[in-house]
Amino acid sequence: MTYHNYSLKQLQQIDAQHHLHPFTDHKDLRGAGSRMIVRADGPFIYDAEGHQILDGMAGLWCVNIGYGRNELAEVAYEQMKELPYYNSFFRCAPPAAGLLAQKIAQLAPKHLNQVFFGSSGSESNDTALRLVRHYWALEGKPEKNRIISRQNAYHGSTIAGTSLGGMEPMHGQLHGAVPNIVHVMMPYAYELALPGESDHEFGLRAAKAVEDAILEAGPDKIAAFIGEPVMGAGGVKIPPASYWPEVQRICRKYDVLLMLDEVITGYGRTGNWFAAETFGIEPDTITTAKALTSGYLPLSALLVSDRIAKTLEEKGGEFHHGYTYSGHPVCCAVGLKNLEIIEKEGLVERVREDTGPYFAQMLRERAAGHPLVGEVRSVGLMGAIEIVKDRETRERFLPSGSAAVIVRDHAIANGLMMRATGDTMILSPPLMWTRETIDLAGERIAKALDLAEAQLR
Ligand code: PLP
Repeated sequence: MTYHNYSLKQLQQIDAQHHLHPFTDHKDLRGAGSRMIVRADGPFIYDAEGHQILDGMAGLWCVNIGYGRNELAEVAYEQMKELPYYNSFFRCAPPAAGLLAQKIAQLAPKHLNQVFFGSSGSESNDTALRLVRHYWALEGKPEKNRIISRQNAYHGSTIAGTSLGGMEPMHGQLHGAVPNIVHVMMPYAYELALPGESDHEFGLRAAKAVEDAILEAGPDKIAAFIGEPVMGAGGVKIPPASYWPEVQRICRKYDVLLMLDEVITGYGRTGNWFAAETFGIEPDTITTAKALTSGYLPLSALLVSDRIAKTLEEKGGEFHHGYTYSGHPVCCAVGLKNLEIIEKEGLVERVREDTGPYFAQMLRERAAGHPLVGEVRSVGLMGAIEIVKDRETRERFLPSGSAAVIVRDHAIANGLMMRATGDTMILSPPLMWTRETIDLAGERIAKALDLAEAQLR
């Protein structure tokens, strides 16, 4: 590899001088230097100092089949030799793009049969936003163009992605959001349920916030509601069972389209190919990326319902939208192979029937009873641990988020990569984790919590 001629210190200096990192305080980074991750194999990553770390985040919610899968490298190599690039504009197409679109349509809920490719989740959400507004314009309702989203949602980092998202610090740096997007409350019972309110009642109240927003603007002004089935970056917030059916009922009642952002949940994470199945949702669009290639190459796919596709085809003319890398042959060939591997190895069923429930049990046994833990929750192979100062009152440590960072640092030092977001610890491991890997993670979580407890009190 090209970096082998450099010492770790040199690499860190070069990185600090020239590389602007995503979501990073660069002053901090310049001081501490980056942890250089230099190789990976199976469920493990390795840093430049040789530490082996169990990757509880699957990279960034994406490496679902694990690291070091030669099949993906080989298919990329073969496709690159045969056709490294060609576009899908002007009635051309590399065969891999159509074949992958067909495969995705076979796996998706049955009314979603069309796919628009991009390179990232953010890009795909831009496409989704443009597409739903375009749909209503084609249907003769151009004023039906407002989108309802949720506070604390994450839909990407482009201007449209940030505008759709509901993260306050991101909006604070936006200096002009895409207009006509409103944000309603998130379905997060642990912090937002009223005293005495059941999860069921809370779920209905959170869904009612969507209806209130529709009625406030008038249904003829609302194009769509967008949501992550489970809020991921916002803290693996799993809605009560009453939430999604009610949101769906409301959307149907007012003919508001339902856009699901499955960039994290797509391709198996919740124990079904799509979380739409897990939560019984029939969306009009599904945004996917990340696990589509297990992160080996950048690729996103927006799944589009027959209803929208029909209007686009019959009333649309040209849709003035597309990216140079839409349907990139190498990315699509890798995506296709990746989905075949997930299917062949039965990873989705394994998460649903075995590793998902086992992961939930591990969180209950290893974390739920700990004095630092207010709540654990999971669905399939995505989970969260709420860090609190007081389990009874749910009081948090101050400053906000500081305790979770301490837990995270102990986890990493003890060989488990986890993420801290606010006061929440997050896990989103590769789907190829086995019961043994989950046991190993459990030991390391328990140790990190004990060490953090000793440090914090
Ligand atoms: N949507 C969701 C739900 C995500 O979690 C993310 C990324 O984490 C995105 C969109 C943006 O995807 P990308 O970083 O590929 O642009």
